[in-house]
Order: sequence, then C-alpha cells, then structure tokens
Amino acid sequence: RAKALGRARYHIFDPAMYQEAIQLLEIENDLRRAIERQEFLIYYQPIISLTTGMIAGFEALVRWQHPIRGLIYPVEFIPAAEETGLINAINIWVLQSACQQLYIWQNHLVTPKNLTISVNFSARLFSQPNLIAQIDQIIYETKINFANLQLEITESVIMENTKTIKVILKQMRERKIKLIMDDFGTGYSSLSYLHNLPLNALKIDKSFVKRMQDNQENMGLVPAMIGIAKSMGMAAIAEGVESKEQLDKLKNLNCDFVQGYLFSKPIQQQLILDLLTAKPHW
Ligand code: C2E
Ligand code: MG
Ligand code: MG
Ligand code: MG
Repeated sequence: RAKALGRARYHIFDPAMYQEAIQLLEIENDLRRAIERQEFLIYYQPIISLTTGMIAGFEALVRWQHPIRGLIYPVEFIPAAEETGLINAINIWVLQSACQQLYIWQNHLVTPKNLTISVNFSARLFSQPNLIAQIDQIIYETKINFANLQLEITESVIMENTKTIKVILKQMRERKIKLIMDDFGTGYSSLSYLHNLPLNALKIDKSFVKRMQDNQENMGLVPAMIGIAKSMGMAAIAEGVESKEQLDKLKNLNCDFVQGYLFSKPIQQQLILDLLTAKPHW
C-alpha cells in the first residue's frame, strides 16, 4: 500500500492506479457501513469425528449479506478487509456471534455435550492490542468453555514468529483454547516451527484431499501429512471431503476429523438443530 502511494506520487495521473485507490476507498466505506448495520452473517459447517462418527463441532464461515449485491463470499471481501484493517472488527464480531450460538446449541437437550466452535483468525488480529482481554470478555459473556473454542490460524501467523505472537499463543494455550493450523501444506512453514508451537491439530488443505484421486491408488501427500500431525501429537483434520472414496481412504489412514460437502455444506444457524438431531447419512 505504502509502495503504491509512493509510486502514485511520481505517476499522479496514472489512471489505473487512481482507479485502484478509488475502488479500495469504496469498498472500505462499504465495509464500514456493513459493520455498523451488521450485514454479516455466519454459515456453519459440521466437523465429523471419525472416532465416533458424530458431529464434533462446527466451523464458522462469514458471509456478507449486501443490500444490493446479495450474498457475498469471503474471497470477495476478506482481502479488502485485511488491507483496510477492518478485518479485526469483523473477526471479533464472528467470534462473539459464534460463541453465543454455541452456547445455545450446548444447552439444547438433544445435542452432543462437547460441541466445539472453530473460528478463522486473521493474522492481523495478532497485532491487535488486548486480543486476549477481548477473548476473555467474550467467553465470560457468552458462558462457553475456553476448551470448546478452536481458533484456525494460517501459516502466515507462525511465519512471523515474533515474541508477541508466541506470548499470545501461550496465553491461548493456558486457557485451553485449541489452536488449529488451517490450510496446512499451502504455506511455507517449516516443520521445526510447527514443532515449537502449541498447536492441537493440522487441517489438511482441500487441494491435497482433492488430489487423492477417486478410484485410484494415488494418495498424494495426504498420508505423509497425517503422519506429520500424529508424530507431533496433533490431530489430523481433512477439509474438502466430497466423496465416499476419499472418506474411506481417510478412515484407513486414521485421520481424526473430516469436513466437506459429503457431510454438509456450510448452512445457516436455523438448520443446525435438524442436522444435529437427524440420523447421520454418512
Ligand atoms: P477455510 O477456513 O479454509 O474454509 C474452508 C472453505 O472451504 C470454506 O469456504 C468452505 O465453504 C469450503 N468448503 C467446505 N467443504 C468443501 C468441500 O467439500 N469442497 C469445496 N470445494 N469447498 C469446501 P468459504 O466459506 O468461502 O471461506 C473461504 C475462506 O475465507 C476460509 O477458508 C477462510 O480462510 C476465510 N474465512 C471465512 N470466514 C472467516 C472469518 O470469519 N474470518 C477470517 N479471518 N477468515 C474467514
Ligand atoms: Mg478454516
Ligand atoms: Mg482451509
Ligand atoms: Mg483457507
């Protein structure tokens, strides 16, 4: 951004640059208004334990219900939210709403008792002062247990590897919050970094699950990735599971948790109790 502005000084009439700056300003205003008017909503996708065959928890996935453009998916606004810093406000809202929702499900008689909620955490949150205090406040207000909260972080967080991040991760661990490395395999983290961090699980990116080809022996990197998780005492989660063949292979590899369209797409909160009470179709 700074670089773009720097260049803009020399090419002040560069129409492409100007267009880009205007667009970012527009989306920034649009996002600010969306935060004020609470236009975001959360879809939930179940995560299934292969040990029990039951739903172990849900991942919260944010969407933007835009008054004109309709339902907008994260790929279309998270990058701009990151760039403008507005991701922090959005992400804290997601955390708060997801925890409130979990409390409601947990107190519904028929649901499994220890459901977890997974929230994606932008790397930017880690530079927000009082992050831990804000989490503490949300947990206190929504009355869920710290141990039922799972935070999904990406490799970019651990690559920064700063003292601040280490302190925050340690504080999370002290509270028994679970930490999951999301999109495992798509970043550049080294195994020694992974080893030194208080992670509870590796979530294997869906691109690797996809490459475990149906009807073929080729398993790609997935067995090795599950092996890495196990050897570090972490659970393995596979995302993007779409076929019975993939599920069978993952079972044979002793993968711990699975998530994907085979079980359910991300769904709105009103449909969750039906899903929890229905007989599993998998
Ligand atoms: P992610 O955390 O890796 O989430 C998994 C994505 O894969 C979701 O896309 C989900 O809908 C999709 N998915 C689930 N099962 C399948 C499947 O079987 N096949 C395929 N092809 N896709 C599947 P979604 O909801 O569009 O979210 C995209 C990304 O946006 C997320 O990737 C996450 O990085 C980010 N995101 C979502 N919500 C939040 C949030 O509250 N905060 C932050 N910081 N990022 C978020
Ligand atoms: Mg995720
Ligand atoms: Mg992922
Ligand atoms: Mg992702």
